[in-house]
Amino acid sequence: MNRAVLLLLSFTCLSLALAGPAAAYPDKPITLVVPYAAGGPTDKVARDLVDGLRRQFPGTAIVIEHTPGAGGTTGATKVARAPGDGHTLLLAHIGVATAPWLYRHLKYSAADFEYLGMINDVPMTLIGRPGLPPSNFAELTRWIRTNKTQVNLAHAGAGSASHLCGLLLQQGLQTNLTTIPFSGTGPAMAAMLGDQVDLLCDQATNTTGQITSGTVKAYGVTTSQRLAQPPALARMPTLDESGLKGFQVTIWHGLYAPRGTPKPITERLNGALRAVLADPAFIKSQQAVGAVIVTDDRTSPEGHRRFVAAETARWGTLIKGTVLEYID
Ligand code: ASP
Repeated sequence: MNRAVLLLLSFTCLSLALAGPAAAYPDKPITLVVPYAAGGPTDKVARDLVDGLRRQFPGTAIVIEHTPGAGGTTGATKVARAPGDGHTLLLAHIGVATAPWLYRHLKYSAADFEYLGMINDVPMTLIGRPGLPPSNFAELTRWIRTNKTQVNLAHAGAGSASHLCGLLLQQGLQTNLTTIPFSGTGPAMAAMLGDQVDLLCDQATNTTGQITSGTVKAYGVTTSQRLAQPPALARMPTLDESGLKGFQVTIWHGLYAPRGTPKPITERLNGALRAVLADPAFIKSQQAVGAVIVTDDRTSPEGHRRFVAAETARWGTLIKGTVLEYID
């Protein structure tokens, strides 16, 4: 090797060292861990997000890895323990704020993540299997009172959105239903379409298609006001106006990296996330299934961290009033 080449090589190495870890990032595939099964609402957000991120990191492979289990905490544990180099990320929802109140032996804490920003707010919907006799919420209430020991409710594990929505529903109706946990509400929806489970409260990102085509019974949305769009959801009454006064649940999703991921990389990822949130293709695909894209300060790492801290306190109060036992 001649001196000029050696000089050039050392100059390149020095520039990379000075530019820090972000200069070479990403230098291998990025894995986005989804802590629920494929085919559900978190998966839908992940797929749209990954499509957008691929446009922000051209040439980099970005893959989704489904790691379901224990209400989303198995996937979160995996990311909390991954190397903090920006190549393993977590897409999570309110589970980040609910799990600490439900799992006694949680293997991570909120401090084990770098917060990259919030993505969306998603309304939930209460739906029933195609063959369920009631066709509106008033009929459903009467039917549950008559058949209560036989009525079952599907969910995605303790601390999942569907689990908590179901608990609030049971609390509102002052009844106890048989609950059936799945690895995600994608599989729960498949069981519902096969008439194997009766009820499911799930994000609109999973239910809008079935509600639009009339393949499930639609009983209500969980927002405080009726929705303006998409059309199938706009036609649905709120559970609050149907008699469950004060019933209100919306589900946010956020993006996280393991603790210790260098700031230049988290800033790069936050920039990419914000670009996706402004990407018309992402907005269109998410709005079509009822999601509201976040545009405020919660898209910043600090803003999202503050929001999650407030949500953790809020869900703690709700859960303590609803669930009696920790899960070991
Ligand atoms: N919707 C699920 C939940 O109840 C999770 C999923 O399958 O995306 O949290």
